[in-house]
Amino acid sequence: MSRKPIIAANWKMNKGPAEAVEFIEEFDNLIGDSSPVDIVLSPAFVSLPAARQALVNSELVQLASQNCHFEGQGAFTGEISIGMLQEIGVDYIIIGHSERRSIFGEDDSLINDKAKALHAASVKPIVCIGETLEERDNDQVESVLRRQLTEGLKGLDSGKMPETVIAYEPVWAIGTGRTASPEQAQDAHCFTRMVIREIFGEDVADKIRIQYGGSVKPENTEELMSQADVDGALVGGASLDPVSFSQICKNANG
Ligand code: PEP
Repeated sequence: MSRKPIIAANWKMNKGPAEAVEFIEEFDNLIGDSSPVDIVLSPAFVSLPAARQALVNSELVQLASQNCHFEGQGAFTGEISIGMLQEIGVDYIIIGHSERRSIFGEDDSLINDKAKALHAASVKPIVCIGETLEERDNDQVESVLRRQLTEGLKGLDSGKMPETVIAYEPVWAIGTGRTASPEQAQDAHCFTRMVIREIFGEDVADKIRIQYGGSVKPENTEELMSQADVDGALVGGASLDPVSFSQICKNANG
């Protein structure tokens, strides 16, 4: 089964509207008119409208938000609904990033509420999963991934799953410069696909794309992407520079 690679930039709390536009203009020149991989940028909420505007003529680059609330509206001070993000024109929304889990206390049940709301609104989720170093050292990688997948994806419609993206991001590799080895990534991705197969069946497991995230750089992209079950990358630090992110996109196709 050949799956189109998907490379997504996660800018986190970096780049206001002006810097986002500057990045896009430079990135556009570097990447050219076509790419064999899907490319997604995830600016901060406030930079999304400017980014959308800057991408108005781009069929190459899609837009994601880094978070959302699962309710449509109401008394949720500081939150942003999926409908508001759709109005701006986002294609994907990242949910369950380890920083949301560890800093903002998001759990699998909340992530499941968001995933269900995204499917109901026909916005594609990028669902992040991954173990901490302590969990890896205690041989809990598979039990943690199984729990995050089973709870986070509970009750979702299998018809919407092929468009859903899973991002395997070992927490110990995020922003640390310590990348998982290609074998560690492949083992976790293969296990993730197996759990997806158990829950949603063969067809979904064959089609769903599983990104690797954790200190991806231009130099390690090709080797990670050469693994059978690695279908893309979610990139933090190295996505902030248009030169390095465009190189990752180019290297992702071998
Ligand atoms: C991330 O935060 O999703 C991430 C993978 O960050 P980095 O690439 O900087 O490790």
